[in-house]
Amino acid sequence: MYYGAIKHLDIANGPGIRVSLFVSGCRNHCDGCFQPETWAFDYGHKFTGYTFQNLLYLIDNPHVVGLSILGGDPFEPENQSEVLELCKTLKFLRPAKTIWMWTGYLWEDVKDLPVLQYVDVLVDGPFVKELKNLSLAYRGSSNQRVIDVAKSLTGDQIVEWKMDIPMG
Ligand code: SF4
Repeated sequence: MYYGAIKHLDIANGPGIRVSLFVSGCRNHCDGCFQPETWAFDYGHKFTGYTFQNLLYLIDNPHVVGLSILGGDPFEPENQSEVLELCKTLKFLRPAKTIWMWTGYLWEDVKDLPVLQYVDVLVDGPFVKELKNLSLAYRGSSNQRVIDVAKSLTGDQIVEWKMDIPMG
């Protein structure tokens, strides 16, 4: 697997301060995609054991609440096994850190993939230029959904993620 970039302190992709990994390779080819250079599966750098150790080091920053995995598309078949290994290992080593993931595929098409056992929130669906809305949190167009994965897997319908707001 290749990746285009790692953001060390990202406040745009998920709640809180996060580390973001942009994996390479995407066949969705959404009209208006803001980073078409990431469509190539060999764009950027190879993801290695060193990359993982570096991610772990960045995530161990006490201000960082978790990892966001964007693309490209982490659900492309070429990326699935390494993304699964990454998420599984991270959840084992750092269970308190959340994992958010973005895909151009629909929840209905990926919900049975094993990686979702380790993902807290999935933002699904292609970017649709006609539905672009800059006021939406964590997504570019209104067809995309911010999905609470655990709740959606236990029930038979999609449960949208809601920010926990402390009471009192
Ligand atoms: S899924 Fe994301 S990376 Fe892929 S074409 Fe659509 S907007 Fe671009």
